[in-house]
Amino acid sequence: MCYLERFKIDLKALTEDVTPLEWELDDDFFKSLEDSQVQVGSLHVSGSIRKAVGFYELQLHTVGTVRIPCDRCLELMDQPVEADLRLVVKLGAEYTEDDDLITVAETEPVLSTAWFIYESIVLAVPIQHVHQLGGCNDAMMRVLSEHSAARSSDADAQEIDPRWDALRKLKVKSEE
Ligand SMILES: [Zn+2]
Repeated sequence: MCYLERFKIDLKALTEDVTPLEWELDDDFFKSLEDSQVQVGSLHVSGSIRKAVGFYELQLHTVGTVRIPCDRCLELMDQPVEADLRLVVKLGAEYTEDDDLITVAETEPVLSTAWFIYESIVLAVPIQHVHQLGGCNDAMMRVLSEHSAARSSDADAQEIDPRWDALRKLKVKSEE
């Protein structure tokens, strides 16, 4: 079974008015998603899907942490995340998404929640995420600044390279 199968809800198979939902998300969740920017995380998803007249209402709450690179030192850091997701789901002619209104094809009445959960997690990550004060990796910061300094001196070296080459050839000749 594909890992993401467990996040699919067969709407026609819902027997209760309210069906509780619960999932644990780990690295496998993020790695199963195509183009996921997050690869490591540990989160708990809980909520329910409610059967109403003419539509379904999905409500999920996600809490946990994701490991993402710190903006300042680039080392991975644990970012706490708390996200809410609410979708209204209807059956229709074909699958469409319109903000939080999802229409699922009547011929294939299955809602895939994985990508919606992922999006809610990513949206809950603050735009600027850095280690707490003093938490950045000093060694990493040094390497980063040395690396940028080394890159500019590399460029200088390349400029004078042909002349050094010519001198080296002269030296080899005179030694022969
Ligand atoms: Zn940092």
